[in-house]
Amino acid sequence: MSMNASWSSNSPCAGCRLLRRKCKRLECVFAPFFPPDEPQKFAKVHKVFGAGNVAKLLKRLHHSKREDAVKSLAYEAEMRLRDPVYGCVGVICLLQHQLRQLQTDLSSAMSHLSMYQSLGFQGHDMINNQMMMGSNGYDAAAPSVN
Ligand SMILES: [Zn+2]
Repeated sequence: MSMNASWSSNSPCAGCRLLRRKCKRLECVFAPFFPPDEPQKFAKVHKVFGAGNVAKLLKRLHHSKREDAVKSLAYEAEMRLRDPVYGCVGVICLLQHQLRQLQTDLSSAMSHLSMYQSLGFQGHDMINNQMMMGSNGYDAAAPSVN
């Protein structure tokens, strides 16, 4: 948990400060996740989801899940503010598109590789056959025809 030792004992968490209420640190659902030195984190989450909804959501979750929930809420809020139309879905779609492109490139590279490998083996056979012919004397000892 990212409780800051540097918190002065009187300063409210970023949530309570923005909501202008007294922060009872031990009972405050925001306090463990929204330290006073990161006011923007709470401001963005509040702007997108609303402090009341965030508090309700966190209270419904087990303590062990709350930090991850806050991280995803903060990320989603950040992306929604940057891209009001698609939010983080825009990033997900972009990454899915890149993933599909890379899968296509990979399967194309694999099929090229297997094609070159099969050509390579044929080439080896041809070289071996020529060497065998040479050792039988067909080429090396062939009389020159004038
Ligand atoms: Zn608080």
